[in-house]
Amino acid sequence: MAALTRQFLKPQFNSLFIRSLSTNSSTASLIQSTGDPKGSRSFQWVFLGCPGVGKGTYASRLSDLLGVPHIATGDLVRHELSSSGPLSRQLDEVVNQGKLVSDEIIFNLLSKRLEVGESRGESGFILDGFPRTIRQAEILDEVTEIDLVVNLKLREDVLIEKCLGRRICSECGKGFNVASIDVMAENGLPGMRMPPLLPPQQCAAKLVTRADDTEPVVKERLRVYKEKSEPVEDYYRKRGKLMEFDLPGGIPESWPKLLEALNIDEYHLKKIAAA
Ligand code: ADP
Repeated sequence: MAALTRQFLKPQFNSLFIRSLSTNSSTASLIQSTGDPKGSRSFQWVFLGCPGVGKGTYASRLSDLLGVPHIATGDLVRHELSSSGPLSRQLDEVVNQGKLVSDEIIFNLLSKRLEVGESRGESGFILDGFPRTIRQAEILDEVTEIDLVVNLKLREDVLIEKCLGRRICSECGKGFNVASIDVMAENGLPGMRMPPLLPPQQCAAKLVTRADDTEPVVKERLRVYKEKSEPVEDYYRKRGKLMEFDLPGGIPESWPKLLEALNIDEYHLKKIAAA
């Protein structure tokens, strides 16, 4: 394992992670007991879940609330793709086929992101889309301790509709969803309603769709998730770190329930942040 770590991690990656280790916070209830979301301790959380489940949405909201960076490896990959750097063409092919990027590339991108974060004085993180393979999870364990892994879940037909409805404003980068989801309960799966998340007028004419959000690519990403990433859920389950969360619907229903499951008092945290 040490050899793998040496193989994939630049030396500074290791030290960056170790330097940002939290003290001993393992659950969000600790936030409430100290009442200080931006105090000395930092959170080291991971968000898992299938494509389209909303990892980015909820991880980013929590990152604002807890004052720790939201680091999405998918965003790092897309940033690299748009840069027309040497890696760009290679990544384009892999991502647009719904496959996973190599561990080596992902660790390099993550390492660079952490370096930038360190220079800004960041500590802690909410990782989104990483680790996605057992190998990535093992390497992450070699360099730091993860406090909590949140596994977001939604029925598969809804995931596909959500991915196909996803739109991004090419100017401000905000995400929206034009899908209007209304599925009945069937075969033990819950019924679900999610109204579209429509853009404001200034974004409406600038919406773009991710190149990998086409039906065949989404289906391939779901297949790859089952093959490579579901075992990661098990990896953390066995270590007692996994919190399963079945999304009950759209953001208005799911967000308060997620905070409740994490034992986070949003009102209390916002009051402290504003003080
Ligand atoms: P998704 O909506 O499928 O969860 P992401 O935005 O997280 O998509 O990632 C987009 C793409 O970037 C993935 O399909 C994959 O090709 C690549 N990618 C992101 N994170 C990783 C990772 N940890 N390991 C390998 N590839 C990754």
